[in-house]
Amino acid sequence: MPRTPAFRRSAELNYDIRTTVVKAGHVGVWWLGQATFCFKFGSTIVYTDPFYRDANHSLQTLSETPLKPGEFVNAAMICCTHEHLDHIDPETLPGAVKASPSARVVLPMWNVKFASEMGVPVERMAPLRGDDAYTLGGVTIRAIPAAHMTLDHDRKKGYRYLGYVMEGNGVRIYHTGDIQPYPGWYERVKKLEPFDAVFLPISAVDNLHYLQAVYFCALHKPKLAVPMHYNMVPGYTEDPAKFTEALARNCPEQKTRIMKIGEGWMV
Ligand SMILES: [Zn+2]
Repeated sequence: MPRTPAFRRSAELNYDIRTTVVKAGHVGVWWLGQATFCFKFGSTIVYTDPFYRDANHSLQTLSETPLKPGEFVNAAMICCTHEHLDHIDPETLPGAVKASPSARVVLPMWNVKFASEMGVPVERMAPLRGDDAYTLGGVTIRAIPAAHMTLDHDRKKGYRYLGYVMEGNGVRIYHTGDIQPYPGWYERVKKLEPFDAVFLPISAVDNLHYLQAVYFCALHKPKLAVPMHYNMVPGYTEDPAKFTEALARNCPEQKTRIMKIGEGWMV
C-alpha cells in the first residue's frame, strides 16, 4: 500500500520552517508524523522525537516521514520522550544531532546510556528525571512523567517515560509523549494550565484511546487540541475524525485541528 505523502518535505519544508516569522505570543508548529514535531518559539527551534524511515525500509510506515536525519537543522533543542524506536530512534537521532550541532538533547535520564551507545555525545545531553525542567534560548522544557502502560520510576534515573510542557515566546504547550492515565497526572497538569495547545496521542493500544484524549480536553480545556501518534506504525492507528467528532459532541467549545504531515500552523 502506498504511504500517505507528506504535504511538504525536505528542502521545501525546511524553507517553510526557516522563513516563517513567529511573532511574540505565538508558536509555529509543523507536524512531522507520529510524535515528531518542529516547534518554533520566536526564532528558537525545538524538535520532538525525530523519526525518519524511507519508503523501502523493512518497517513499512503508513505515512511519509518528511525530514531525513540530516534535515533536522537549526535546532536549539531536540526533545526525546522515551526509548521506543518511533521516539528515540537509533536510525534518526544521531544524524539529527549532527545536523543541529548546537542543539541540546533533552531526554529521560533513564535513556542516557541508550542514546550515548547510538552515538549521541553525553556532553550534548540535558537529561531530565520528571518533575524538573531545562531552559535554553528562552524556552523552558518541563518534564511531566508519563505512564506508557506502566509508570516506571527509578530512584536514580527518575521516570522512564516523559512528556514535555514547553514555554517560551509567551506561549505554553504540552506534548504528552506516549501516555495513559495514571494517578497524579491530573494534578501535575492542572498546576500548569492554561495551555495554548496540547498534542495528544489517540492510537490506543499502549497510549490514550481517542475518547481518553477527549476526556483530557474536558478536564484541562486547552485552547487547541491536536491529535498525534496515528497513521504511521501499523497496528497503532486511528481515524482522527473520530476524535474531532467526539470533541464536537462532548466539548463543543474545544478548538481542534487535524494536521497534515509536513504542514505548518501558527498557534
Ligand atoms: Zn510511540
